[in-house]
Amino acid sequence: MGISDYYLHKSPRGSKKYTIWTKGGPAFDFVAFSALIPLTGGMDSPLFPIAYLIILHIVVYWGYTGGIMASILFIMEYSITFFMQAQDAYSLNSLINYLCQVLFLLLVGGLGGIIVSRERKHHSEKNLLAEAANRDYLTNLLNHRSFQEYLQKDLHRGVGFYLAISDIDKFKSINDKYGHVMGDKVLRQIALIITSIITGKQGEVFRYGGEEFVIIFYHNEQNEVSKLLVEIKQSVANHIFYCNGEAFSVTMSFGCCKHTGETSDQLVEKADKLLYEAKDSGRNQISFQ
Ligand code: GH3
Ligand code: MG
Ligand code: MG
Repeated sequence: MGISDYYLHKSPRGSKKYTIWTKGGPAFDFVAFSALIPLTGGMDSPLFPIAYLIILHIVVYWGYTGGIMASILFIMEYSITFFMQAQDAYSLNSLINYLCQVLFLLLVGGLGGIIVSRERKHHSEKNLLAEAANRDYLTNLLNHRSFQEYLQKDLHRGVGFYLAISDIDKFKSINDKYGHVMGDKVLRQIALIITSIITGKQGEVFRYGGEEFVIIFYHNEQNEVSKLLVEIKQSVANHIFYCNGEAFSVTMSFGCCKHTGETSDQLVEKADKLLYEAKDSGRNQISFQ
């Protein structure tokens, strides 16, 4: 049990060691238990209640079916010991004790399995709800609400960062010409392009709303931020979309500034102004403070 718990907390989820030790651990427990019980008095062993712990442990890693199978294994082990050891194995009292023990082992596996499955379901539903509240359905990017939360956290942390607001140029005409379904595909593809460039600790990408995306850059150097924005701008402009055999491309404009003590609203307004400067200077541009 100890080894399983160690690997549960220390090994990366899904790694080979994690699977072998968390899933295999309870099997070793069962083997050790089977050796220990005959050595410590068989049926009268004070260590027998460990069986309940092992069954519950198995339920955690092997689920409901694992719990029932573990109960059956322990019942078999208990039955063998009982019929080999008990002097008056067939007396009414002994048989009642035996049946109670069997029932109890089954209950531990069955009820433990039900409780663990219910908890897991509740947990995954909670995660799904949290994901739905924080992510944008169309692009799967973090949504506006997440953006506000991240921004507040970053403002409080007090480390330097850049904020960029970007907007697809003349996107209304894409919808008008190729339809909203195609427009949605363009939004999804642009989200993919941006997230393929802004990876790991470089920053976070959000869908601000409509055809606008924001990026928080965790960089202190304007050069670095500028390089990344140029890469995004070029990759978007170079991407060819196809609709009914017709090829087209889109461009984006960007406004970007460094946080220098403003409130979140002031910072967004500053980046927004720069974005509109980029639009006014002919679009497909990056406007830096
Ligand atoms: P500009 O270069 O000045 O930004 O021009 P624009 O046409 O991109 O700007 P405008 O604000 O006039 O149009 C934005 C369009 O984005 C209008 C709206 O229909 C479209 N849009 C917003 N959200 C979505 C969406 O989720 N899916 C699709 N297909 N279109 C959207
Ligand atoms: Mg817009
Ligand atoms: Mg636009």
